Amino acid sequence: MPPKQNRKVIRAICRAIQKNRTFFLTGHKKPDGDTVASELAMASLLKRLGKKVDIANAEPAPDYLSFLPGIQKIKTAKKVDRCYDVAMIFECSDTERMGNILDIRKQAKTVINIDHHLKHSFFGHLNLIGLTSSSNSEQLYYIYDALKMPILKEEATCLYVGMMTDTGRFQYSNTNPETLWIASKLLEKGVEVHTLCEKIYGTKTFSSLKLLSRALLSLHLIEKDQIATLQITKDDYKLAGSNEEETEDIVNQGLLVPSTLMAILFRETETENTVKVSFRSRRHVNVCALAERFGGGGHKYASGCEISGSLQNAMQSVLPQARKALKN
Ligand code: 5GP
Repeated sequence: MPPKQNRKVIRAICRAIQKNRTFFLTGHKKPDGDTVASELAMASLLKRLGKKVDIANAEPAPDYLSFLPGIQKIKTAKKVDRCYDVAMIFECSDTERMGNILDIRKQAKTVINIDHHLKHSFFGHLNLIGLTSSSNSEQLYYIYDALKMPILKEEATCLYVGMMTDTGRFQYSNTNPETLWIASKLLEKGVEVHTLCEKIYGTKTFSSLKLLSRALLSLHLIEKDQIATLQITKDDYKLAGSNEEETEDIVNQGLLVPSTLMAILFRETETENTVKVSFRSRRHVNVCALAERFGGGGHKYASGCEISGSLQNAMQSVLPQARKALKN
């Protein structure tokens, strides 16, 4: 069951789906498992209801998701120029997060914002913000349910991948009884857990392992070993034959050291003078508040932001605030 406060908006989203014809789906830059899976499951549902659907993101989906059913339908575009009845935007705290791929005031009559992050700006006409939901995919289950649409095996596979990746294989603190109940319903549709786990977690490309090895060389502990830092430079991508898409799990390595309460990955990006910072934490340490200080966001234990300038400058700005966040 969705939380009580969200039932009304779920019904309104269902009405918007039923009465409109053209839909545009998008998600955040550097789309992850939950964003891509949400787009594919929703696109499939809409098509079965006879709707016209386009999906595009500002940046491409990572290669490790290339097996997801329908993924070739997701386009990469800096801007889309068409207008739609409805734009559905997944996992974006604001429109900048989707790279402003579409002007929501001019190119969509109805904007539906579906998210589960702590920081958000309610930019949609309809905002389904499930703060207790493990993932966006978990929330889409309620829409299928409210529309009384059975879930196909391919759709269940996408929703399961979204939930599995956003909960780190059902390990993180966002895993709740509802998450596992919905996951069990998806398994009843024929989801092949073992195959999905092998594809996403049991295998890694040679270049991503090389990149990991380079990042681990930079592993450093500060603040009585409570903060682990990692760095990736443009040279690291080059020498590993890798790229930004293969950085996803690297920050988590910092939390493997038992004394650490926070891990921070600083990495150079393809955009000149822009550093991406990823935070992970445990226990009392809230890295969402920390990322927000730098214009980013996320969850209590997993967040991120982008900082202009060099990697060294980013570290100089972030580390004093990270030390303070340990004490709060
Ligand atoms: P990651 O470190 O894996 O890129 O992101 C961790 C979490 O923080 C995800 O939920 C992601 O959506 C959020 N996040 C990462 N970077 C940003 C950012 O620049 N802005 C906002 N608002 N959220 C971010």
